[in-house]
Amino acid sequence: MSNWLDFKSIKRDASLEAVLRHYRVDLRRSGQHQYRGRCPIHRGEGRDAFHANTARNVFHCFACGAGGTVLEFVAAMERCSLYEAAEKLKMMSNSFGQSKPVPNGKELVTERRKVSLPLTFSLRGIDCAHPYLTDRGIVKETALTFGVGFYTGPGMMHRRLVIPIHNAAGELIAYCGRSVDQTQPRYRVPPGFAKSEVLFNLHRAAATGEASVVVVEGFFDCMKVHHAGIQAVVALMGAILYEPQCRALLGRFHQVILMLDGDAAGRRATKVIAAKLRPRCPVHIVELPVDVQPDQLSAREIRQIVVPALQRRLALR
Ligand SMILES: [Zn+2]
Repeated sequence: MSNWLDFKSIKRDASLEAVLRHYRVDLRRSGQHQYRGRCPIHRGEGRDAFHANTARNVFHCFACGAGGTVLEFVAAMERCSLYEAAEKLKMMSNSFGQSKPVPNGKELVTERRKVSLPLTFSLRGIDCAHPYLTDRGIVKETALTFGVGFYTGPGMMHRRLVIPIHNAAGELIAYCGRSVDQTQPRYRVPPGFAKSEVLFNLHRAAATGEASVVVVEGFFDCMKVHHAGIQAVVALMGAILYEPQCRALLGRFHQVILMLDGDAAGRRATKVIAAKLRPRCPVHIVELPVDVQPDQLSAREIRQIVVPALQRRLALR
């Protein structure tokens, strides 16, 4: 077979060192053949999480658990199968012998880092019935829908409540870790996470096919509104609507119901966001009582506030 790929010889011929260089992985030497640094695969926290041994041609990340030979490394970096990785490695190996850098290699890497790509792993053993969730009024059914729960495994999300974040296509792109005690920061996201391009829960909200969407600030607001039966809801993950988020929102919905927090910051943000949206779509503002945020309301209260807003918008059409 002409297209047969000999994994063994490919692994032997491609040195991990050259492959790491190819991907511009920034590592520090920690032993004769040992290197350490930030993991290029999950790109998360942990300055020393990623270990590579260039003599044995193997790597391991203590944060995301990725590990193996050059083949697994390329598969993880390219988000492809081992077979495809072998093909890529074979092509790469041809250029390793040359002293000049791989054409466009640098540009490709830079391009890749502008957006949050799908993760190549998912956290396992998440406790969806953790007391913290119950305390915040998140029932198990909602926790399961959103995939949130307490994580005790290794890495930057250790002993945090993890909240999976997806892109518009529904692909998992990051976890946000909420501390369940006084640990700072309260919310932890992987460095480089492109928050301005993502709306939490957009893929589920869009799947409803509704014309109107409720926009809230936080993850818990979003989950509570969803639990109240209003599934077309997204969270800004803050109090700013960035232009890419705005475009994503308007690409799927015709009207927006803004329900930000009832504090001074929330009121200010409401004005700014409404002004940004109004020339482009109808906006209805739900003003919550002073210092009340949506996640403090019961499902019934949320319905009482949001459903009339939704109906009013529908009547206007
Ligand atoms: Zn990693």
